[in-house]
Amino acid sequence: MAEKKEIVNLLDEIADFLEFRSENPFKISAFRNGSNTIRKLNDDINELVNSGELKKVKGIGKGIYAVIEEYCSHGFSTALDELKKDIPDSLAELFQIRGLGPKKISLLFNQEKIKSIDDLKTACNENKLLSVKGFGEKIQQKILEEIGQIEENRNYLLIHFAERESGKIKILFDELPVIKKYEFTGEIRRTKEVYSSLEVVILVESDKVDELLSSLKEKIALDVISGEILKSDTAVKLPLTIYLVHSENDFTARLFETTGSEEFLTKLGYASNKFRSDNEEEIFSKMNAQFTAPEMREKDFFSISNKELQIPSDLTNEQLKGFLHFHTTYSDGLNSVEEMVSSAIKLGYDYFAVCDHSKTAAYANGLSEHRILKQRGEIVDINSRTRWRLLQGIESDILTNGELDYPEEVLQEFQFVVASVHSNFSLSEEEMTRRIVKAIENPFTDVLGHPTGRLLLHRAPYKHNIKKIIDACSRNQVALEINAHPNRLDLDWRNIFYAREQGCLFSINADAHSLDNILLTKYGVAIARKGGIQTKEVINCFDYKTFVKFLNRKVTRKVERYE
Ligand SMILES: [Zn+2]
Ligand SMILES: [Zn+2]
Repeated sequence: MAEKKEIVNLLDEIADFLEFRSENPFKISAFRNGSNTIRKLNDDINELVNSGELKKVKGIGKGIYAVIEEYCSHGFSTALDELKKDIPDSLAELFQIRGLGPKKISLLFNQEKIKSIDDLKTACNENKLLSVKGFGEKIQQKILEEIGQIEENRNYLLIHFAERESGKIKILFDELPVIKKYEFTGEIRRTKEVYSSLEVVILVESDKVDELLSSLKEKIALDVISGEILKSDTAVKLPLTIYLVHSENDFTARLFETTGSEEFLTKLGYASNKFRSDNEEEIFSKMNAQFTAPEMREKDFFSISNKELQIPSDLTNEQLKGFLHFHTTYSDGLNSVEEMVSSAIKLGYDYFAVCDHSKTAAYANGLSEHRILKQRGEIVDINSRTRWRLLQGIESDILTNGELDYPEEVLQEFQFVVASVHSNFSLSEEEMTRRIVKAIENPFTDVLGHPTGRLLLHRAPYKHNIKKIIDACSRNQVALEINAHPNRLDLDWRNIFYAREQGCLFSINADAHSLDNILLTKYGVAIARKGGIQTKEVINCFDYKTFVKFLNRKVTRKVERYE
């Protein structure tokens, strides 16, 4: 058994190593094409292998089929192992560095004996790359920057991975009856976009501490034990800190002082253990301060002048009615329109707007005018069969000059438009801001997709003036996306308060490219809650009628109502 994603990665990795070894270019592109073909398959890969049907799929030759079959039944690939023979494991790290393809890595390895990121860093610092063909001072500088980023990011996990690690701790603690109760605190309780630690407060009776310690030690390595604070650097993929307390009052006090960021607590004027209570509301009120939701306890909270914006969010996953901005096999998604919507319906969504990529996004198989019509036909057919409220939207590239990717007559046929930057990231701040503002001013734009372009722990945002962009969204009634993908969580939550003060609306979207992705929306909700966003500020929380009204606020759209 194997997941489709694993097979895609396997074929890509084989292609990379074939290229690294300068093998036959036809063979290399066969593996790259094979990976693409698999990515787009809708059927279960294991079934296709078991039935032998995969052999008949165009683009899957005998050799590739054998690799996939072996991997599905045994979980490894002899072909890949063979290619990796005599190559140190650390070399794989080099493939993470953008701008260093297999060919360049091969040169570095064979000529300069560079076999890890550390080697490469030393070589750059000693200017050794300048003598290697195809490398210059600029590339060397870029590589150093990339390495710096990778090193910095090594200590952080994205939200979904941090959740997985906290899940492991949860399973462990749930099995220990000696723990009266426990709660995650710190970054987890505060909700962050990236995580550097896991912290938990445990309530345990004082005469049961020894029992707890010995049961814990059976399961995890506790590296440092000092009084009531336990630490483990190896239990999970993040450093773990456990605080032991023995009373409800201490439990709440510990939770309180480990939740808020340091700056938050300082600004609040909190002095440790001064205000004891078994509920946090009371601690706030004893300090003459307004209750602040755990996820909002950051210094940015104090930047809001409008007190009304400080109240905790009322948003929950269940309140999302519109499943918007998702991709299908028409562009770079893995599932059909019908599959995506069927799954989203089961999760309680009420209306839908598919937003595949626009034509300039050739890398993502963006829709030509001809294919737009084909998809539209399919949607009309689906709606008439099912009575779903399925709209045809588009994620239109924002071209370098700020225009959207289709002429007006094409744009007006879409029922929903997300405008996003996917190319030419290196413009100056002024140029990029002008480009995005122009797209916001386009009357067909409904949502500005992933507004800053950041990829967490991977790519910094493009240069832009976020305030000017938010102001433009407010003036033009364009919603700001809170892209819920754990790699993005973009709009950055730090700018949510400013956007709310300008009266902006938001759109929380998983940017789902597969059925699994649909559930990612919850991370967008978590980050929106951090900014205190209320249900009424989120266009996906509108009922269908109000949503259609929103779509028609500037241009008339042909949207059938199913009432
Ligand atoms: Zn996008
Ligand atoms: Zn997208």
